Amino acid sequence: MKKMNVESFNLDHTKVAAPFVRLAGIKEGQNGDVIHKYDIRFKQPNKEHMEMPALHSIEHLMAENIRNHTDKVVDVSPMGCQTGFYLSLINHDNYEDVLSILEKTLNDVKHATEVPACNEVQCGWAASHSLEGAQALAEEMLSKKDEWNIIYQADAE
Ligand SMILES: [Zn+2]
Repeated sequence: MKKMNVESFNLDHTKVAAPFVRLAGIKEGQNGDVIHKYDIRFKQPNKEHMEMPALHSIEHLMAENIRNHTDKVVDVSPMGCQTGFYLSLINHDNYEDVLSILEKTLNDVKHATEVPACNEVQCGWAASHSLEGAQALAEEMLSKKDEWNIIYQADAE
């Protein structure tokens, strides 16, 4: 296959074993600041996906809560294929710590009583939300925490 500009376009999605947390890229700025970008995959590509209201709510919940656990977050954003999220952190390169931050954040989601900012002032599609759906996703992800560091099917066997 032709080498693509986008890192994940060079990933063979048929070979991965979701859920997982994968370092997808490192960018260094001219002043030495470093951004690590992680692929946080909830669902097995082309086999499963997250429904939009649940994905949208877990996006709001993770974006808001993860910042209580680290001040290094640049962005948390959903993948268009609805199978996961990208997490970008600045000047933070400890993979085990990323897993721990994610675990704490998903526990926050599990115990949330409302979706933050799901109204027409603070969100672009406030009608499309599901707290229950988001919590089911968090629950499922947390139940497989032991597998987050296994990225490829070949390593899972
Ligand atoms: Zn929104």
